[in-house]
Amino acid sequence: MLCIGLEGTAHTLGIGVIDSNGKIYANVRSEYVPKSGGIHPREAAQHHTNVFAATLQETLEHSNLNKRDIGLIAFSRGPGLGPCLRVTATAARTIALLLDIPLVGVNHCIAHIELGRQLSGFKDPLVVYVSGGNTIVSAYEANKYRIFGETLDIALGNMLDTFAREANLSHPGGPKIEKIAKKSSRRFISLPYSVKGMDLSFSGLLTAAVNKLKENEPLEDLCFSLQEVSFAMLTEVTERALAHTERSEVLLTGGVAANKRLQNMIQIISQEHNTSFFAVSPDLAGDNGVMIAWTGLIQFLQGDILNIKNSQILPKWSLGAVEFTRT
Ligand code: AMP
Ligand code: MG
Repeated sequence: MLCIGLEGTAHTLGIGVIDSNGKIYANVRSEYVPKSGGIHPREAAQHHTNVFAATLQETLEHSNLNKRDIGLIAFSRGPGLGPCLRVTATAARTIALLLDIPLVGVNHCIAHIELGRQLSGFKDPLVVYVSGGNTIVSAYEANKYRIFGETLDIALGNMLDTFAREANLSHPGGPKIEKIAKKSSRRFISLPYSVKGMDLSFSGLLTAAVNKLKENEPLEDLCFSLQEVSFAMLTEVTERALAHTERSEVLLTGGVAANKRLQNMIQIISQEHNTSFFAVSPDLAGDNGVMIAWTGLIQFLQGDILNIKNSQILPKWSLGAVEFTRT
C-alpha cells in the first residue's frame, strides 16, 4: 500500500510518499524562512498555503505515480503551530474526500522516531530527538514513548538559530554555527551549563552567549563554546537515560542530528555503553512528509483511522500523551 504524508507543524511544508515495505517514492520539502526574527505562525501558514499545490505536483512527478495509486493519506496533527497545522489538515481532508481514501492523524514527534527506527533497523532504541522546536530524550515502554529528559524552555535548534540571528547569520543558524566553530582554535569561552535533574535549560546559555558576542568575543570561539556546552548538556542527559533504560541502541534524529560534533559526542557515550548508534541523514531527520506517511501506515494497520468530522488538529499533543502500538 502507498501512503502520502503531509507535514506542516512549523516552518516546513513537506510531502512524502512511502509504501508499506519502506520504499520511499518522494520527499519534497519547502521551507518558510522568516525575513527577520523567528517564525511568525501566520506567515509560515501563508507560505504553506502558497506552495502547497506546486509541492504536491512535484511530489507526484518525483514519485512517478498516478494519484489513484495512493491508498492512504496521513497528516501531522500536532504538536505544532495552529495556523500551520490547519493548512495541512484541511488539505489532507480534501484529498481524502476527493480520492476516497482513509485519513490518519499522526503525532509529529512519533513520526520522527518511527521513521528513524525504520531507517536504522533498530528495534527498541533510546531516542534523542533534537530539532528547531523539540529537545527530547525518550524510549518506548508499555505502549508509549516515555520522556526521560527534555528542555524546560527553548529547543536546542531554536537556541542555535536565535544566537545565529544575533550574530547576523541567516536562518537556519545551526549549520552556520557548526561551520564557523570549525575555524576556532578550540579556545573555550566559559558559558553556563544548565542540566536540572534529567531536564535541560538553554535560555540562560543563550543570553550569556549573546552577551559575550556584544563584548566582542570572537565569533568562531563563541560558536565552538556554545556547541561544546549545549551538546555536552544533552550528552550527559542521554548517557544517564541510557544507563537507566539499558537500551542497546541510540537513535539521533531531528534537524540538529546533522551536526557532526553532536553525532561525535553521542557516539562516544554509545560506544562506552556498548550500544549501537545511528544518526538519521539530514533529508529525513528534519521535518518531512515521508515520516508522516510511514507512521500513518503503521497506524492504519492498527485500525487507527480518523473520521473527518473528528479530525481536528491537536497543537499541544505531547509525545508522552500518545498511546502508540509499535509493529
Ligand atoms: P527541524 O525542526 O527538525 O526541521 O530542524 C531544523 C533545526 O535543525 C534548525 O534549528 C537548524 O538550525 C538545525 N540544524 C540543521 N542542521 C544543523 C547542523 N548542522 N548543526 C546544528 N543544527 C542544525
Ligand atoms: Mg520536527
